[in-house]
Amino acid sequence: MAGKVQQLTHQAERQAISVMLDGFLKHLKSKEDRTETYLKIVDLAEKFYGAGANKDTLNAVREYVKNPENRWMRFINRVVDETDHHYAKTMLLNLGYEAFFRGTKTIRENRKKYNCNIPWLILFDPTMACNLHCVGCWSGTYGHKSSLTFEEMDKIVTEGKELGAHLYMLTGGEPTVRMNDIFKLAEKHNDCFFGLYSNSTLINDEMAERVRQLGNITFMLSIEGTEETNDARRGSGHYEAAMKAMDILKKHGIVFGTSICYTRANVEAVTSDAFFHLLEEKGARFGFYFHLMPVGNNAVPELMPTVEQRKYMIDRIRYVRSPESNIEFFPMDFQNDGEYVGGCIAGGRNYFHINSNGDAEPCVFIHFSNTNIKNNTILEMLQSPLFMAYHEGQPFNRNQLRPCPMLENPQLLREMVQATGAHQTNLESPEDVDHLCAKCDDYAKEWAPVADEIWASETHKKPSYENYTQEKREHPELAAFEHADGSVRIDV
Ligand code: SF4
Repeated sequence: MAGKVQQLTHQAERQAISVMLDGFLKHLKSKEDRTETYLKIVDLAEKFYGAGANKDTLNAVREYVKNPENRWMRFINRVVDETDHHYAKTMLLNLGYEAFFRGTKTIRENRKKYNCNIPWLILFDPTMACNLHCVGCWSGTYGHKSSLTFEEMDKIVTEGKELGAHLYMLTGGEPTVRMNDIFKLAEKHNDCFFGLYSNSTLINDEMAERVRQLGNITFMLSIEGTEETNDARRGSGHYEAAMKAMDILKKHGIVFGTSICYTRANVEAVTSDAFFHLLEEKGARFGFYFHLMPVGNNAVPELMPTVEQRKYMIDRIRYVRSPESNIEFFPMDFQNDGEYVGGCIAGGRNYFHINSNGDAEPCVFIHFSNTNIKNNTILEMLQSPLFMAYHEGQPFNRNQLRPCPMLENPQLLREMVQATGAHQTNLESPEDVDHLCAKCDDYAKEWAPVADEIWASETHKKPSYENYTQEKREHPELAAFEHADGSVRIDV
């Protein structure tokens, strides 16, 4: 009975917010009183956050929105102008109201209740089938045949939602190969938002129109610089397909982004002014940058960025996000932005990955597991040994430019995998943890002194939370918990 009442309250609240958003968006689209409308949205956010609202931050936002010439106001106004009304409303409802406001509250409660990580987003692979064969792509190492059934994908979302997760990202393989099932899933879970990492090749007008109508799907399109650097890795004709997909998504008023793997060979091409302006003009509004990881037996470690290139990435991405830049595109660097999210987000701390065989892995790059969606619930996955080792170990390094237990602290992944008995999950080409981590040892050693120098030269804001075992670290007797280099010893 209590559950039913709660459900009705939720539906009524969602409906009321939907009506308000309709009004806000109409005002914003008419370009009249935009500042006043933004201020009303901030007031609404404050109301929903309740006691959890950070007054200082909200007041700073209020000041910022008052000037339409501010860099990010120009950016937001452009997104408002270019986005379909229904799509924008559904995105705000599902990402803003469901995920940020309701979801975050539920997640925080469940972290305490279950004493484990509870994620904000779950990444899963509908299928490993892919029509491309990119150089250095680890996904092929799982084999191209495995797929999750619709029922398994539905189980992931249903159980994830109960824990508070309303954001799902889909990779693979090429997720659009399973577009009918994805549409079914997005329709059934119309209070969630789905982001597809896609190679673009199957996106067409019909697909984009259905996406617009549903309003709760976006795409992160793979693209790597110029036609030359892109097609060298992804195959001839891919660049053209990505450009065409962007035109289609823009035409249908869909907010979309990019997924960019930076390597020793393309780092300059994927961060040039010309490339950013091209993405901007094509309608891409945000981009995830991923450092090439030497995962899998067919990895190409020689393509990992050099120390100098990684330093350059830190400066370049931060510049593009700074008020000085005029690029209307928001890039995020998965490897260098650790400080904004408290270090490694994997193991369910903010996210985890379920591969197309159903194995739950702490991160899309960490192919080890003790648990599978065919036999376990999402909560059981989060409480499985390797995930609990992540929970106990995070943050893995005080220096959040060295966040990863594999890339920058490879000894830690060895320790965790050995201590938890997690098995490797690459079916076609098994790779043990020593083989994987050996490819990171030299990189980690070379990067450490440079990263430490950068970290020491900057001031850092304390993240709002790192994890829930943090209290332990604040006790001096636990100093022995750390290795001499600042990385954390894992006690499982
Ligand atoms: S395991 Fe490494 S790559 Fe994955 S989220 Fe953590 S720091 Fe990032």
